[in-house]
Amino acid sequence: MDLDRVIRKINSKNIKNVGLQFPEGLKMQAVHISRIIEEECDVNVIISGDPCFGACDVSDYKMKDSVDLIVHFGHTPLPIKYEVPTLFIEAYANVDVRKDLMKSLEYLKEYSKVALVTTTQHLHLLDEMKDFLEDNGKEVVLGSSKSTKKGQVLGCNFSSIKNLDAEVYLFIGSGNFHPLGIYLFTKSPVLAIDPYNSEIREMDEYADRILRIRFARIVKAREAKKWGIIISSKEGQYRMELALEIKKQLKENGMEGFTIMLDNVNPDALLPYLELDAFVVTACPRIAIDDSQMYKKPLITPQELEIVLDKRDWENYQLDEILFRKR
Ligand code: SF4
Repeated sequence: MDLDRVIRKINSKNIKNVGLQFPEGLKMQAVHISRIIEEECDVNVIISGDPCFGACDVSDYKMKDSVDLIVHFGHTPLPIKYEVPTLFIEAYANVDVRKDLMKSLEYLKEYSKVALVTTTQHLHLLDEMKDFLEDNGKEVVLGSSKSTKKGQVLGCNFSSIKNLDAEVYLFIGSGNFHPLGIYLFTKSPVLAIDPYNSEIREMDEYADRILRIRFARIVKAREAKKWGIIISSKEGQYRMELALEIKKQLKENGMEGFTIMLDNVNPDALLPYLELDAFVVTACPRIAIDDSQMYKKPLITPQELEIVLDKRDWENYQLDEILFRKR
């Protein structure tokens, strides 16, 4: 993390109070970084202690009366306007991907055109990875979009990987959500390298398993008459219009919909509403996809609700993407 840039930025402005925000995986560095900043700059640092899941979740509204600048670590900015000047500091993972790339060649041997995709943490390795694949006879394709850097998939925004001319997608990063999204949006083979534990996996089997789970949730949700419609109060996840449209559609189909606004959606927060039969989440799409096993009632995405209401075929299943907007 480029702390010199943070210090230069603070010292170049008339800043008295600085907010620091970290995703969960970097929070243990908060005290150390706060100490360095207070030693190097004449400012008071306030650490945001709330959970932070993405650049959709900057605490600008919460901190706007308390700080002159927010330093948000670990994500790149989204194309939205923040209430407080916000400096985004990327955090690069210190991992060596060469050995894993070497292993991936065996999986890639039947393909010549490879789209390389990664997350912010590994963007600094992109040129090295591209050179490696090219040196081994592959043509490398790098997608980009207005809101992402070359080769980057950002949060639930998959715009950079759509419509690429590639035979296979090679994803480098942790977790299943991104390679699953690439697989579902491109309908192409996806090979995922997790550089933290040197694991390589083909996504078709995993995607089939997730799709079976999603299908079961949708079937169960078809029995629902009383729905909770979850709206996030997080700036980048706030989709009130969509929530109200869903409520209208439920009513048109003879069902009840109750809108529930939450900052941090989790199973405990929904316990008081278990008289409802199912929930549709207009907040972060990962809640329904990654965490659905934790919830007692079916929790589905707006696209899955379209299937429940017979407005979309199962064959056209799509992952939810948030087109980021500001209130
Ligand atoms: S809404 Fe999108 S960008 Fe935000 S945490 Fe969820 S997946 Fe990531």
